[in-house]
Amino acid sequence: MQQPGSTLMDDQPKQPPAAAVSVTGLSKRYGAREAVCAVSFEVAAGRIFALVGPNGAGKTTTLECILGLRRPDAGSIRIHGLDLRTQATQAKLLVGAQLQAASLQDRITPRQTLDLFGSFYPESFAGEELLRRFDLESQADAPFATLSGGQRQRLFLALALINRPTLLVLDEPTAGLDPQARRKLRILIREMRAEGRTVLLSTHDLEEAAQLSDQVAIMDGGRIVAIAPPAELIARATSLCRVCVRTAPPLARALVDSLPHMLGAVYSDRGWMLDTPAPNLLLADLVRRADQAGAELLDVQLRRPSLEDVFIELTGHSCSGGEPPGEPS
Ligand code: ATP
Repeated sequence: MQQPGSTLMDDQPKQPPAAAVSVTGLSKRYGAREAVCAVSFEVAAGRIFALVGPNGAGKTTTLECILGLRRPDAGSIRIHGLDLRTQATQAKLLVGAQLQAASLQDRITPRQTLDLFGSFYPESFAGEELLRRFDLESQADAPFATLSGGQRQRLFLALALINRPTLLVLDEPTAGLDPQARRKLRILIREMRAEGRTVLLSTHDLEEAAQLSDQVAIMDGGRIVAIAPPAELIARATSLCRVCVRTAPPLARALVDSLPHMLGAVYSDRGWMLDTPAPNLLLADLVRRADQAGAELLDVQLRRPSLEDVFIELTGHSCSGGEPPGEPS
């Protein structure tokens, strides 16, 4: 249990110098299906690292191997330098996990669950403290079956933290939640990093990965195709910026065609969509010329390349499984 007098924020885990997770040449097959193929990456201690990819990319299998729930066919995994093949018991004490398919018995309450799971470990947080922190106090004695999706996810996150782990492994922690519950969960995940813990998570939400993570590994078909901080990945995108502008009256085609740095223009839905590598220069001229033409600006939007654009460029398909975006109609 938590030491008397200590608080959650006092609980700064001491980080050993080694990377929190080090995966080398990890491969795993299910029969003929190669779920994970020669995957290697390192998760720096105290950072949020996201494995992103569509359904079936191999994210869960990778996390399950790291958690010691599946035996790899090849490769090695170290957690803070401890080799999972020979030092699994010590390594597991450093890890807290939240799995995608987690569930609990219908009638158990959050308070009972936290007390029960806390009793499994030599050191753990007090259930009361986690109920407060994860905003579950008013549902503390409610049966699990009556909790909302967001409350359940917060309980699973609290359970992942119960043994004061240095490393948290979270499989799709925000899947299926409404935007408000997602925001709340992201705040909690950032708090874990602020305490010095390492978070390794999986998601197929690229926007979320870009907002939340220090490092993103793009995974597709069992392989890692790129690893970098999200801003660095986005900077690699070759897609153009897109300026969408509506004016009254609409701008003439001749005016639009004469704008500097304009590499493509499509008129749609009473506005122009203009592709450009230099949005500042294009917008400055656009505003001036619209004014000269007596056209009033009604709406201007700028869309920069996103992690989704990078994903499509690297894999040839969308992360959410849809078709790559084509020409605007
Ligand atoms: P999701 O986001 O849908 O969970 P994922 O990226 O986590 O996808 P995995 O669940 O690791 O991917 O699955 C990788 C591949 O392995 C998929 O083709 C999947 O169908 C297959 N697979 C996963 N688990 C098993 C299993 N127990 N038996 C057979 N095939 C499996």
